[in-house]
Amino acid sequence: MTPELFDTHCHFMPGVDIGAQIARAKECGVTRIMAVGGSRELNETAARAGTGFFAVGWDRDQYGKIGEEDFPFDGNCAAVGEIGLDYFYDPDHRKEQLELFERQLQLAAGLDKPVVIHTREADDDTLGALKSIPSRGIIHCFTGSPDFCRKLLDLGFMISISGIVTFRRADNVRESALVVPDDRILIETDSPFLAPVPMRGKDNEPSFLVHTARFLASLRKTEFEDFAALTTANALKTLCTH
Ligand SMILES: [Zn+2]
Repeated sequence: MTPELFDTHCHFMPGVDIGAQIARAKECGVTRIMAVGGSRELNETAARAGTGFFAVGWDRDQYGKIGEEDFPFDGNCAAVGEIGLDYFYDPDHRKEQLELFERQLQLAAGLDKPVVIHTREADDDTLGALKSIPSRGIIHCFTGSPDFCRKLLDLGFMISISGIVTFRRADNVRESALVVPDDRILIETDSPFLAPVPMRGKDNEPSFLVHTARFLASLRKTEFEDFAALTTANALKTLCTH
């Protein structure tokens, strides 16, 4: 029997054949997928993807593009996301990003939902926000240092590792992936971006999760079957809280 994997982070771009992607994923054992939003278009495709789990929210580049009528969210979502801070891409609008992030942390806390957080070159502000607004959920596509990873683990967060961990230059991601204990690690594709080795250069999709899962199992010196089982159990525990 193929072990069942859970892709905790996938964006379905408008126009892609979602049914075909889900079918290919199933053939590879990727039986669960969380479709993740972040913009108007992605929130709509995520909510309609029919994968059983979806997240909706406003990503760091949505400040100024949304209004009061865009809050709150679809209460059927499994999580609020993705939300967060990216000071690498947009260092000039830290204040706007932070405001939008904190507002949605409050909202998720009010809805009692987990959050899906993107954080890049914004360690201090991410930690500050999560300390001031008690939250739970997932740090997605983690690429930070082992030290930052430990601080997020201390706050109770799950750490999700993407295909970046398979990239040749990603020693720091491999180091961080080894810091995460068995009961806190998740895996994701972040499709259609960041296809793992040996699929680099292609459009990523949930079926490719297998490559990241196999790589991580071997990195962590775990049997693939055990790693699949524990990451799937972790995802269900994080997202099925009611
Ligand atoms: Zn994403």
